[in-house]
Amino acid sequence: MSLPMSFDLKGARVLITAGASGIGLATARAFAQEGARVHVCDIDQTALEALGTTDATLERSACDVSDRVAVAHLFQEVTGSLGGLDVLVNNAGIAGPTGRCEDLDPEAWDQTLAINITGQFNCARLAIPHLRLSRNASIANLSSAAGRFGFALRTPYSASKWAVIGFTKSLSIELGGDGIRVNAICPGSVAGPRIDSVIANKAAARGVAPEVIRNELVNKASLKRLISAEDVAHAIVFLASPLAANISGHALPIDGDTQALV
Ligand code: NAD
Repeated sequence: MSLPMSFDLKGARVLITAGASGIGLATARAFAQEGARVHVCDIDQTALEALGTTDATLERSACDVSDRVAVAHLFQEVTGSLGGLDVLVNNAGIAGPTGRCEDLDPEAWDQTLAINITGQFNCARLAIPHLRLSRNASIANLSSAAGRFGFALRTPYSASKWAVIGFTKSLSIELGGDGIRVNAICPGSVAGPRIDSVIANKAAARGVAPEVIRNELVNKASLKRLISAEDVAHAIVFLASPLAANISGHALPIDGDTQALV
């Protein structure tokens, strides 16, 4: 679905992490449609290569956001090819393990935090000097409904997503004087393969059928439906546009008015 109005982002230089699929790719396409110049990174080399056929205008780099050496290399590539940066979308995030806290593999805990929150720090710290030179600079950090509610059996994911909101609100204050806006996005459950596997894992952990979890999820949203990756992409484009010039420090739920997680 195309956006109904112009967001004045023609020529904007945009970096999106984990942009080879899911919300990241939907966001890359939404920015490209507005005439922005978009660079995506991803850990999945095969998915990046596929973009050469489907989305040839997107610049691409292989990068694991939890690897500081790789992120430094990414920023050399991005700032070299785009000649600066106006928008950072810190999108990379993994679901992490499902289970009771005492049963979790500590390495899975570490990996979830390393990608979901430290990965955002790794990218933001290198983006900020470039964003300071932009006339419309912003950062969008992907949190989750799990960054607003407690989420039993998903403690590493929820802890990382609450951390994203603390990082966002602190950075917004820190960078406000430089005219850099920083917001968090809190998607609800996006229909698609990721949520299918999250539902399957939760159903297994609780010993119920996947349909039980899916119905509980949908019924916790006032609008009684899952969301789409494009819903999230459109909000990120709006927040990066001059129309959102005075919006910073927010954590915006895009979740059909979710009241709790299951
Ligand atoms: P996804 O699981 O579909 O993965 C998107 C991409 O991330 C993949 O191409 C994958 O290769 C890449 N990736 C994984 N680890 C990476 C790493 N270390 N470095 C770089 N790239 C990496 O993700 P999604 O569902 O599109 O979610 C995107 C963001 O939105 C995440 O931060 C996620 O936590 C958040 N979110 C998603 C949902 C949802 O229902 N899908 C809900 C709330 C929040």
